[in-house]
Amino acid sequence: MSKLLIVGTVAFDAIETPFGITDRILGGAATFIGLAASQFNIDSSIVSVIGGDFPKEYLDLLSNKNIDVSGIEMIKEGKTFFWKGKYHNDMNSRDTIVTELNVLANFNPIVPESYRDAEIVMLGNLHPQIQLSVIEQMVVKPKMVILDTMNFWMNNTLEDLYRVIKKVDVIAINDEEARQLTREYSLVVAARKIHEMGPKYVVIKKGEHGALLFNNDNVFYAPALPLEEVFDPTGAGDTFAGGFAGYIAKTGDTSFENMKNAVIYGSTLASFCVEKFGTERMEKLSNQEVHKRLQQFKALTQFEIQLT
Ligand code: AMP
Repeated sequence: MSKLLIVGTVAFDAIETPFGITDRILGGAATFIGLAASQFNIDSSIVSVIGGDFPKEYLDLLSNKNIDVSGIEMIKEGKTFFWKGKYHNDMNSRDTIVTELNVLANFNPIVPESYRDAEIVMLGNLHPQIQLSVIEQMVVKPKMVILDTMNFWMNNTLEDLYRVIKKVDVIAINDEEARQLTREYSLVVAARKIHEMGPKYVVIKKGEHGALLFNNDNVFYAPALPLEEVFDPTGAGDTFAGGFAGYIAKTGDTSFENMKNAVIYGSTLASFCVEKFGTERMEKLSNQEVHKRLQQFKALTQFEIQLT
């Protein structure tokens, strides 16, 4: 088993979907990653920043999932990062209505002493300079560094983003982001171009259409589980990443074959995340529920064919 270090936002989210609307609930990339990874009973730690307005009960929620929160700095006089998004009717696309960086604007991450040798590092969606600073604080080269990012950083901090992309083993982004980053429509060509930027492995998430894993000429595809109900897709990408990273940390195996299973775990956990608003579903998710859905997943994708 390996230790997992997570960096990302711990936030307040306000979400509007065709099914409902919420005001300031618990959110943030690192929150979703941590909750997903907690399914694997591994040692994990979040590096982030919050304001004095952040409720203690939210921190307790993370601690109770065995996530080390000592790397979440609190700026008493500051305000927590706030994001507001609105989904379109098809739930596949959304508009960002508000992004208030608040305490994140001057965040200087400090990796806890006991996590500077973490084998797996999950760099959640955040300013690339912060992601870079975390890599630089590691005293032992991690077995695997995984990066998530989004169009916001591509639009505003592209040069810094290139610098961090160069240093990671895996990049996990969605199809739209892969196309924006490479200016290529074909995801196969986009993955090849991203390989040239540094990462050996490229994961391209396609929302309700699953995810692709590329390693040069090796390609693996996992569909998303067809669900009856999609209530709120917020955090699905981070939950996928948390499932992926958590599984790699649990198994300690960074081979391509094992990464396929990590993709399946990521997709399975993401399928739960979208069933309720925000983190609600992930907070109460049991191992048995995950196991049952993995079986459904296997049945969905397995077939025997006689090739003559
Ligand atoms: P996802 O739906 O997986 O893309 O992630 C949604 C989460 O990302 C929300 O909980 C937000 O708090 C967080 N988020 C939104 N915008 C940003 C940003 N620019 N930087 C970091 N985190 C963000």
